[in-house]
Amino acid sequence: MTTCPPRPVPAAPGQHFTVVDPATGETFAQAPARRPEEVDALVARAHAAWRGWRADPAARAAALREAADAVEAAGADLAPLLTREQGKPLAESRAEVARTADRIRYFAGLRPEPRPLVDGRPVRSEVRWRSIGPVAAIVPWNFPLQLASAKFAPALAAGNTVVLKPSPFTPLATRLLGSVLAAVLPEDVLTVVTGHEPLGARLASHPGIRHVTFTGAAPTGRAVARGAASSLARVTLELGGNDAAILLEDAAVDRIADRLFWAAFRNCGQVCMAVKRVYAPARLYSDVVEALAQRARTVVVGAGLDPATRLGPVNNAPQLARVEDCTARALAEGARAAAGGHRLDRPGYFHAPTVLADVPPDSPVVTGEQFGPVLPVLPYRKLDEAVEAANGTGFGLGGSVWGTDLDRAEAVADRLECGTAWINHHAELSLAQPFAGAGQSGVGVAGGPWGLHGNLRPFVVHRPEET
Ligand code: NAD
Repeated sequence: MTTCPPRPVPAAPGQHFTVVDPATGETFAQAPARRPEEVDALVARAHAAWRGWRADPAARAAALREAADAVEAAGADLAPLLTREQGKPLAESRAEVARTADRIRYFAGLRPEPRPLVDGRPVRSEVRWRSIGPVAAIVPWNFPLQLASAKFAPALAAGNTVVLKPSPFTPLATRLLGSVLAAVLPEDVLTVVTGHEPLGARLASHPGIRHVTFTGAAPTGRAVARGAASSLARVTLELGGNDAAILLEDAAVDRIADRLFWAAFRNCGQVCMAVKRVYAPARLYSDVVEALAQRARTVVVGAGLDPATRLGPVNNAPQLARVEDCTARALAEGARAAAGGHRLDRPGYFHAPTVLADVPPDSPVVTGEQFGPVLPVLPYRKLDEAVEAANGTGFGLGGSVWGTDLDRAEAVADRLECGTAWINHHAELSLAQPFAGAGQSGVGVAGGPWGLHGNLRPFVVHRPEET
């Protein structure tokens, strides 16, 4: 599996570290730089809080419903802060806050049911469910609140306590979320800790942590798993993706172009399950390239707080450098920029929305994860070749098939080796669905009742029918 060049590590910590507005490239705030040793006391407190939190499922559900309401009520503060540090348009930050509240409410409504075990023997056996202890939640910078809630909501609903570490690129909205939740949850049930590495490594390998739930890049996931192995903590890893969109011969290009464009470019392409490659039949190829390029050339790019903006900056300087590298390499290898192809000459971390045609199939922008506003479009002659290419990168998060004959599209989608496949859209997730990647895209299952069970352990009681 080829990847785009690795990202440099952010600068070393002090007592506080700086937070940069990606729309200007300038520092606008600071966040506490916790030392790795401070994790010991936080985990000890999370452990102490676990006893009370796990005891009463009804009180827990009520507290989580209150937490969801509190997040909604704080939306007017959370959303602009999220936009400021992450870069996304304000409307998308508002949607992220709403989704965060929805997810907390969803998990507040789930309760694991005991289940009788029947195998024909005259024994009354039952599986019940127990919480497991303090959970470490480590998340990246693309959806700081939404991804945090995907971890802490099921963990808390299961009766565990959580220490949550956001990315040092986006610590602020998560800290605010932590204080909003601290006002309604018992003390130390959810703690937010911010700082630079090795803070996350210390948390992931801490002997008091019983489950490490991580979202981020695959190499970091491997390091997290190695760290968690030292204490034999459970590990859930949601890693990168390189989702393909396959257009079929009967795809109506004009009708799907908007949806396809946004499936690739939403959040400036910084979505684990964005469309990261498009495969179009040779007959439609130039129409597809032009439809996407036309949208890339005309979409309004700007600061997320500007109401006209549809596409914000890349979140951080190392990621922008990575996107530039991938793009420059593809162009040097013979690709053609049908739109964009370069960073924008303005302050901040802006890259022109880029559509690449005639890309060599082994270019890193195709085989790796660009995680930015750059989309390669590749032609195919035989559908089998497109399916094989879609399945051929080692990643397996999502995929989509686009066509007019829905049965045919679904038959092709069924051949994708990934966790979620869509027909005629991409990356829309249900709160109730299992979320899991195949191959290098992850380990374990999040989302829905499966996400709750990922934070529980089975406890079985056998008792005879008679004494
Ligand atoms: P990253 O792996 O660099 O960082 C993720 C988190 O891990 C951050 O909080 C970071 O500070 C922390 N971290 C870094 N080194 C660590 C270590 N040694 N031990 C413990 N924690 C450590 O990822 P990123 O650049 O922040 O995010 C982008 C990546 O996340 C992309 O690959 C993207 O596909 C992936 N992602 C996946 C999903 C998913 O659900 N599958 C969702 C969003 C993003």
